[in-house]
Amino acid sequence: QHHLVDNYTFDNFVEGKSNQLALAAARQVAENPGSAYNPLFLYGGVGLGKTHLMHAVGNALKSQNPGAKVVYLHSERFVADMVKALQLNAISDFKRYYRSVDALLIDDIQFFAKKDRSQEEFFHTFNALLEGGQQMILTCDRYPKEIDGLEERLKSRFGWGLTVAVEPPELETRVAILMNKANQARVELPPEAAFFIAQRIRSNVRELEGALKRVIASAHFTGRPVDIELIKESLKDLLALQDKQVSLDNIQRTVAEYYKIKVADLMSRRRSRSVARPRQVAMALAKELTNHSLPEIGDSFGGRDHTTVLHACRKIKELRETNSDIREDYKNLLRSLTT
Ligand code: ADP
Ligand code: MG
Repeated sequence: QHHLVDNYTFDNFVEGKSNQLALAAARQVAENPGSAYNPLFLYGGVGLGKTHLMHAVGNALKSQNPGAKVVYLHSERFVADMVKALQLNAISDFKRYYRSVDALLIDDIQFFAKKDRSQEEFFHTFNALLEGGQQMILTCDRYPKEIDGLEERLKSRFGWGLTVAVEPPELETRVAILMNKANQARVELPPEAAFFIAQRIRSNVRELEGALKRVIASAHFTGRPVDIELIKESLKDLLALQDKQVSLDNIQRTVAEYYKIKVADLMSRRRSRSVARPRQVAMALAKELTNHSLPEIGDSFGGRDHTTVLHACRKIKELRETNSDIREDYKNLLRSLTT
């Protein structure tokens, strides 16, 4: 339960622009645990490799020192263990256990939100580990300052080490990941086939892996080679779904690329014009191009209210009439999303 996944290693992790910083930081931490960056805080959307990287550090620490006590757990598990310890009057054992580790990896700490007692416990554990020079790695689906229901003192401590974003992979990285996974599965994947999948599956690495698995399975069962024909057949439903609708992911990614900002900025609370305007443009495009409701759109932009989306749509409509830059931007984005 507190174990590392063996094949989440640095060797199996494909480097790309989107994960370069996070990978470099993780390698540093593996080389200088407890001193390079403590804690290492990785944040970003689902399926982008945060858990993989965190295990890669853990596995590296283990291979340097097989006796190292590296504990991985999901934050929900930490909460559950703590509750149990409280019920069993074993909270001091709980504390001793977590304070005895060489490295503590806690995944998806957004689940600490509103769990006051767990935050309290974790705060003390955190301080003890930091003082003891024991490495911590934390992941979260958003920038720590933006987790509602998390104590300020925790948020501020999370920033004491290094905080790095993991971004969605760009096309070349998606191709490289597919080639790598096919290679691991010992399946011949022609580059044009990898390219075809990577162009269509754009959301995250987990989806990409899932699609490749389906293609490989159908090659396996039919005895046919992996080519574009086979891919089209085995991913028919997935591709049809993609064709029908521009996804929110896709809009966010395209808008972020266009304005040269991060997807994470679109989700963030930042209000500077350079981020707020693209965000409004993205929301307006989401309203125009998808069937998602206003609350759903708001949700996908870092949990915003539907009135914020409505306001963005109105604002952009107005600006498209009065501001030629915005009119041009909107037109370009619309074209690149629909052709
Ligand atoms: P997250 O924790 O960010 O939601 P995961 O670490 O669980 O994402 O990654 C989802 C899947 O994608 C895992 O199977 C992981 O091995 C794989 N993956 C993600 N990024 C990469 C990468 N750069 N290279 C190889 N595999 C990756
Ligand atoms: Mg994860």
